[in-house]
Amino acid sequence: MQPSTSGLSTLCVHGGETRDAEGALTTPLYDQSTFGFPSTQALLDTIDQRTPGNLYTRYGMNPTIHAVERKLALLEGAESALVFGAGIAAISTTLLAYCKSGDHIVCFGDVYGGTFELLGSNLRDLGIQTTFLLSSEFDRLGAAITPRTRLVYFETPTNPNMEVMDIAAISEVAHAHGALSVVDSTFGSPVNQQPLTLGADIVIHSATKYLGGHSDLTGGAVMGSNAHLAPIAEWRKNLGLIMAPQVAFLLARSLRTLTVRVRQQNANAQAVAEFLAEHPRIKQVNYPGLTDFPTHALARKQMHGFGGMLSFVVDGDAKATAAVVDRLKLIALAPSLGGVESLVTQPVTTSHHGLSPEERARRGISDGLVRLSCGLEDAADLVADLTQALR
Ligand SMILES: *Cc1c(COP(=O)(O)O)cnc(C)c1O
Repeated sequence: MQPSTSGLSTLCVHGGETRDAEGALTTPLYDQSTFGFPSTQALLDTIDQRTPGNLYTRYGMNPTIHAVERKLALLEGAESALVFGAGIAAISTTLLAYCKSGDHIVCFGDVYGGTFELLGSNLRDLGIQTTFLLSSEFDRLGAAITPRTRLVYFETPTNPNMEVMDIAAISEVAHAHGALSVVDSTFGSPVNQQPLTLGADIVIHSATKYLGGHSDLTGGAVMGSNAHLAPIAEWRKNLGLIMAPQVAFLLARSLRTLTVRVRQQNANAQAVAEFLAEHPRIKQVNYPGLTDFPTHALARKQMHGFGGMLSFVVDGDAKATAAVVDRLKLIALAPSLGGVESLVTQPVTTSHHGLSPEERARRGISDGLVRLSCGLEDAADLVADLTQALR
C-alpha cells in the first residue's frame, strides 16, 4: 500500500491495494456475502470493531469494498470513504444521516435533478425543509442558516452551467453558523479538485461518472473524516445501500487510470470550448477554462484542471437545437457523463425536463442549451462532428 504522500497517479495505481496469499498485485474480487471466524471471541472482536476485518458484505466489511474505499479516501485526501450502489444513494444516505424531522438544509446554487427532487419533495415530506439559494445569492447564505440547519449542500462545477462555487468561502460561512459543508464533486473528480483540502467536511461523488469512467457501472462514494462518516455508515448499513463487490472491483480497476483519463478529457473540453466560442451559430459557451468565463479566476485558484464538461447555447429554439443534437454522429445522445465516449444532452429534455419554464429561466437553462461530456476521442474528431452538425 502506498503512503498518502505519493502523487495522485501513483495513488490511483497502488493506493489501498493489498496483495493476497496468492500474490495477486491488486485486491481480488471477493464476491462472498459473509466471512468465517476461528472463534466466537474473534467474531465479537470484529463486530465490536476492536479488530478490523471482514464480516458481512452489506455492512461494507468485505476486502474488495475495503480496498476501493481506501483508494478513494487517498484520492480525496480523506481519512475514510464509503461506497454505495449509486451516487444518489450516497447523497440520500448522507442527508438522512444528518437531518431529522424539523431540521433544515441550505442548498446553494444549481444541483443535480435527482438531488433537487430529493430535497424539494422526498425530504420535505419527512419534515426536513430546504432553502434553495441561487449562486448569485452568496450574501444571503449566512442569514439563511438557522439554528436547525445541519448542512449547506452544493455542487461544483454545477450542472449544466459549469459555474464554479467557492468551496472555501461557502465552507467558512457554513462553519461560522455551525453547519457542515457538503459538496458533490462529481463534475470535478479528485484529479481536478479536492474539496476537503479547501475546508469542506464531506465530499460526495457519483462514481457512475468520472470515477467509473466507462459508462459501465453505477455507484456512489462519500469521503471525509471517520467522525463525519460514522453516522452515514450506520444509515448505509440499515438502508442496505452498499455497493456490490463486483462493482467495487470494477471501480478499483477504473480508478487506476483516473488521472490519465481526466487530464485527456480536460484537454479535449478545452479544445472543443475554444472551437465553439468562435462558432457563428453558438451564442454562449460555459466552460471554466475559457478566460472570459465569469468564474474562470476562481476555477484557476481552486482547481487543478478545468474539467471535461461544458455546455453551450445554440442560436435557435428547442426544436432547432434538438436537430443539431440529432445530427451528431460520433457524439452520442445519452443522459450521463464522465465516460470514455463523448455524450451530449439538451437539459430541457433531460435533467431539467421536470422544471417549470419559469424555474428554468430563473436558473439560466434556455431551450438552446446543450451539455457536452468530452470523452477520450481525438479532439479533432469531436470538433469535426460538431462542425457538421452545426452546418
Ligand atoms: C449523476 C449524478 C448524480 C447521481 O448519481 P447516480 O450514480 O446516477 O445515482 C449526482 N450528482 C451529480 C452531479 C451527478 O452528475
